Amino acid sequence: MTTLLRTLVAAFVLIASASAAPAPRPPNVVVIFCDDLGYADIGPFGCKSYTTPHLDRMAKEGRKFTNFHVSQAVCSASRTALLTGCYNNRVGIHGALGPGSRIGIHANEMTMAEVFKQKGYATGMAGKWHLGHHPQFLPVRHGFDEYLGLPYSNDMWPHHPEAKKGSYPNLPLIEGDKVIDPDITPEKQPNLTTWYAERAVKFIAKNKDRPFFFYLAHSMPHVPLFVSDKFKGKSGAGLYGDVIQEIDWSVGQVLDTLKKHGLDDNTLVVFTSDNGPWLSYGTHAGSAGPLREGKGTAWEGGTRVPCLMRWPGKLPAGTSSGEMLMTIDLLPTFAQLIGAKLPEHKIDGLDVWSLLAGTPGAKNPHEAYWSYYAQNELQAMFTPDGRWKLQLPHGFRTLAGQPGGKDGIPAKYAPAKITEPQLYDLHADVGEKSDVAASNPAVVQSLLALAEKAREELGDSLTQRKGSGVREPGRLPEGK
Ligand code: MG
Repeated sequence: MTTLLRTLVAAFVLIASASAAPAPRPPNVVVIFCDDLGYADIGPFGCKSYTTPHLDRMAKEGRKFTNFHVSQAVCSASRTALLTGCYNNRVGIHGALGPGSRIGIHANEMTMAEVFKQKGYATGMAGKWHLGHHPQFLPVRHGFDEYLGLPYSNDMWPHHPEAKKGSYPNLPLIEGDKVIDPDITPEKQPNLTTWYAERAVKFIAKNKDRPFFFYLAHSMPHVPLFVSDKFKGKSGAGLYGDVIQEIDWSVGQVLDTLKKHGLDDNTLVVFTSDNGPWLSYGTHAGSAGPLREGKGTAWEGGTRVPCLMRWPGKLPAGTSSGEMLMTIDLLPTFAQLIGAKLPEHKIDGLDVWSLLAGTPGAKNPHEAYWSYYAQNELQAMFTPDGRWKLQLPHGFRTLAGQPGGKDGIPAKYAPAKITEPQLYDLHADVGEKSDVAASNPAVVQSLLALAEKAREELGDSLTQRKGSGVREPGRLPEGK
């Protein structure tokens, strides 16, 4: 062989062996999303009335985020933001879709599952969907390979104490895009947490040899509360505590399964909630701890939720971060982690990996965060360092110091109103008790200017503005 030929052969062997080397496997991701879990409902966030050993372990082995928010403190809106990386009003979904709804997630939106699909991930979901219950809107039509769960909230059923007889159809359980049980009765609801956890365990085991994404969206602790016999009466803190202990158990099931299959070091697990506690339910509601108000408001108790993330070796174990983050940031962060493309249309979330990882000097890349509620009302603005929050004039609901309800029967909220912008320094006053607008006019002006940008982009029904960046939701064809 000539020298040239030998060199060529050697080069070929090098190239061939380089291309034969296995590419590093991208990380698996599991997102555990609770329903109406309050800020202070788990051990790592100060709960003392019952124990949550698996979440304690997750915090010890992972990282706690104490200033993590949802886009809007209600179910469909919050879930849409998590799964599209957009403020929910950008994609035309507001509030909580009921069984009579004819809209859902638009086919053109890219869901988190579709981000993972670009890279050949196995994608699965168990639990509450709430982005539209008609077949065209269900998870398996939007990037998930498999799905088991309820299409909307577990109180949208004929057994609700407040439901007028006949106003809700029976509550269905769906597998894929088919109803597999048309009537989830009060006798069956206690199985939901277990069924979802078992599905997660089965999915992880089945896909252990390839990259996967699993979305475990618990129906609990949304009312009506139900718990299996495994946890009934076990927490010593009533039904609510039992329910949270069963969710904690489900987290243990996921962590144990990852460990069993040697996937700990290659899996990011996120645990959080879709909104704060539904305070009118009193003994059946969670706690927002030091935060003001709860679900259904733009106060901290509504949008700030407990959040834990665990990825051994990648996220510093046993640490805590007070950086402000929002669910909209997860989709672009995951996309960057796995080298997937973002959709061509505009999204609102940004890659915040350096904040998750605790990179020294990392700064939140947002100009501001916005908090809409109800039908497109711009109610609050945040500086992205999480310090300043401007509450814009709006109406909201409050118990006004009255006790919540008992045993699944809610108390009545009273209407309340803010008539002038109020500024809160969340670093000094996380409970939003002292309006400091008068002594910080420059901060108020700057947040008011940013509010104008939000209105231009997404509109604002409180000031009768139409947004230029709003897209349509998916709609059921006429006559169907
Ligand atoms: Mg909820």
